[in-house]
Amino acid sequence: MNKTANYKLTIIIPIYNEEDNMERLRKTMTSFLPTCNVAACVLFVNDGSKDKSLELIQDACQNESDLYYINFDRNRGLSAAIKAGIDVAQSELVGYMDADMQTDVRDFNLLLEHSSEYPLVMGIRAQRKDSSFKRFQSKFANSFRRMMTNDGATDTGCPLKIINTSYAKRIPFFTGMHRFLPALIKLQEGGKFYETPVRHYPREAGVSKYTLWNRLISPFKDCFAYRWMATRYINYNIEENNL
Ligand code: UDP
Ligand code: MG
Repeated sequence: MNKTANYKLTIIIPIYNEEDNMERLRKTMTSFLPTCNVAACVLFVNDGSKDKSLELIQDACQNESDLYYINFDRNRGLSAAIKAGIDVAQSELVGYMDADMQTDVRDFNLLLEHSSEYPLVMGIRAQRKDSSFKRFQSKFANSFRRMMTNDGATDTGCPLKIINTSYAKRIPFFTGMHRFLPALIKLQEGGKFYETPVRHYPREAGVSKYTLWNRLISPFKDCFAYRWMATRYINYNIEENNL
């Protein structure tokens, strides 16, 4: 057992070189947690930051309640950070949001309204505040992925999600899987998702870690991997046991 077991929701926040966002992130999270509709904690996953992010995370966790962290030995990528958060979490639900706060943490309360019925609840960035080029890439990638996976998701890349932890722990993980969460959840029996519009803001500090190349090429290949996996995915139900 770890401390996340004392909460209903663990909000995973992956952090790679986000020192300029840390002060605001700390304030945002500590003021949100008491207003969250369920008992919630934050789990920062420091993904080998080379700036002062780790020190700032440690300081926040030492001085505020309900903030926890894990620290990677080196940079392992966003999918790895999310997987580690899910592996560690022992609360009934896991949330995910980015450190750049381009989504509004208060919208977790909107998602929570549906999380008892749906194993995955995710936002749709309604009025997206990114450059037109980035929106174009995202639109293109979304429609190609939708065609290949048939997931029916509007905005897989939205960094505001809540997943039922038992479903989350059964997701097949691979680098880039964070772009396929609705499709991957749908592989499981009962694995349905719900989408709801959420607020979106520009990135105010720090820089985006992704380029056109790593946003399009690998996800393109991953679509084929997904199609293969969908034909081979294992589901089972234990009807009885004497353990
Ligand atoms: N991130 C991470 N490891 C990485 C790259 C990014 O943990 O190798 C984190 C980053 O700090 C942020 C989130 O993943 O919290 C999303 O990254 P970013 O905002 O740069 O991506 P974008 O929103 O531009 O796609
Ligand atoms: Mg971002």
